[in-house]
Amino acid sequence: MREFLSIVLASNNHGKLSELRALLSDLPLHVLSVREALGTTLEVVEDGATFEDNAILKARAVCQATQLLALADDSGLEVDALGGRPGVRSARFAGEHATDAENNAALLRELENVPETERQARFRCVLALLSPFGGAPRLVTGACEGNIARTPRGAGGFGYDPLFLVEGQAGRAMAELTDAEKNQVSHRGKAVRALRPLLIQVVNQMLDEAESVLG
Ligand code: IMP
Repeated sequence: MREFLSIVLASNNHGKLSELRALLSDLPLHVLSVREALGTTLEVVEDGATFEDNAILKARAVCQATQLLALADDSGLEVDALGGRPGVRSARFAGEHATDAENNAALLRELENVPETERQARFRCVLALLSPFGGAPRLVTGACEGNIARTPRGAGGFGYDPLFLVEGQAGRAMAELTDAEKNQVSHRGKAVRALRPLLIQVVNQMLDEAESVLG
C-alpha cells in the first residue's frame, strides 16, 4: 500500500469498532466510523439469513452512503446444543434492543440443563470489504472455538465474552484475556489477518484508478 486512504467501518458496535481499529492500526489507512464519515449513524436492517448476507448488506449501505471503501463485520455466537443459535441473531437473542447482560442471562437460562460435555460453541466473524469503484464484495471469515461457562467472568471485551471459555486458554473466558490476547485468538483477529492481502490489493487498485482519472 502506498498512501493514506480512508476506510469506513460499517458498525455501530463500540466493541467491534475498537477491536477493528486495533487490528488495522499498522496499515496506512484512515480508519473512520460511520459517524465520523457521515456525521450521523446509519441504521441498516440486518435481515439476511447468514453472516455473509448481513455483512454484505452493511458494507453496501455504508459504501453507497459514504462513497468510501467500506468494511463490515457480521459476527455472532453458534452454540452446538442450540443447533447453532443465536447465530445471526446474537445481538438480539433476548429481544430487539437487548443489552449484553440480558443476552448472556438468556443464554445461561437456555443452557441450564446442558452438561459440561455438551456446551461447545464458537464465535464466527465474516468481514465484507467493498470498494466505491465497484466490483464484488471481498469476503473473509474467522472462527474461535470454545465452551459456554455457567457464570460470567472477566471484564474485558463485549457481548458474550464473559461466558465464552476459549479453547487452549487454560479455562479462561474471553473477557479475562487482555485486548492483545483476544485479538490473537479471536474470530475477528483471524478474519482481519485473512483480509490483509485482499485489503492491500483493493487499496492499490483504488489508487491506480484514481491516478489514471487524475492523469
Ligand atoms: P451483529 O452486529 O449483528 O454482527 O451482532 C454481533 C453480536 O454477536 C454482538 O452484539 C455480540 O452479541 C456477538 N459477538 C460478536 N463478536 C463478539 C465478540 O468478539 N465477543 C462477544 N460477543 C460477540
